[in-house]
Amino acid sequence: MRTEADSAPDPVAGAEHGLAVRVAAVRERIDIAWHAAGRDPGLAPTLIAVTKFHPASLVTALLGLGITDMGESRHQEARAKAAAIEAAGGPQPRWHFVGSLQTNKARQLAAYASVLHSVDRIELVEALRERDPALDCFLQVNLSDDPDRGGVAPAGIEPLAERIAAAPGLRLLGIMAIAPLGEEPASAFDRLAGYAQRLQRVAPEAVAISAGMSHDFEAAIAAGATHLRIGTAITGNRPVPG
Ligand SMILES: *Cc1c(COP(=O)(O)O)cnc(C)c1O
Repeated sequence: MRTEADSAPDPVAGAEHGLAVRVAAVRERIDIAWHAAGRDPGLAPTLIAVTKFHPASLVTALLGLGITDMGESRHQEARAKAAAIEAAGGPQPRWHFVGSLQTNKARQLAAYASVLHSVDRIELVEALRERDPALDCFLQVNLSDDPDRGGVAPAGIEPLAERIAAAPGLRLLGIMAIAPLGEEPASAFDRLAGYAQRLQRVAPEAVAISAGMSHDFEAAIAAGATHLRIGTAITGNRPVPG
């Protein structure tokens, strides 16, 4: 006999279906923007799904959809989630830490994170300079006038890049930024492209650009982004942080 429960949609399957649809839509938008920007068709950007405030089960579902890179912005939460995924066995993501990081948490972070996107001061470089093996990182530049937003001021790019380049424990991949509020992302990312050139004069290998979030990744792709940090467009709305 059929019961009410038989015909009710399975909430878990329904959620995973929604996730699969959003992942496919984001991938398609990336492809279109990449092509429209005339970027090298033989290359593709690294898609980092930002899973902050979401449970480890979402990370597992994303791994099942072929997403291998996850972004987190709070150390305690990221560490717990990485431990849960590791304990469950199976495929492991590469963890990208994209938030601001306290200097005294740097060593703990290096135990689970593959890439640190937010190196914005010399103290952080010093805390990680002996790290072995070297940790991949980005220099974060502040595109706003507000010094409280993360990132080094543009005038500080070269001195900080020199310190990173001289630290054996860090491997500088490139530059990272968040588009400021109240400005067209395209104009902010244009400035970022100029800062990326400045960084490369100090560190020629550091050619990557980490930029682009749910609402501005097309503009970031047009400006040369190689690493996209996309949250809500993939995950849906974030739960209220606990
Ligand atoms: C949360 C976050 C993202 C993702 O933001 P969405 O708008 O949800 O795509 C990207 N980068 C950083 C640094 C973040 O903190």
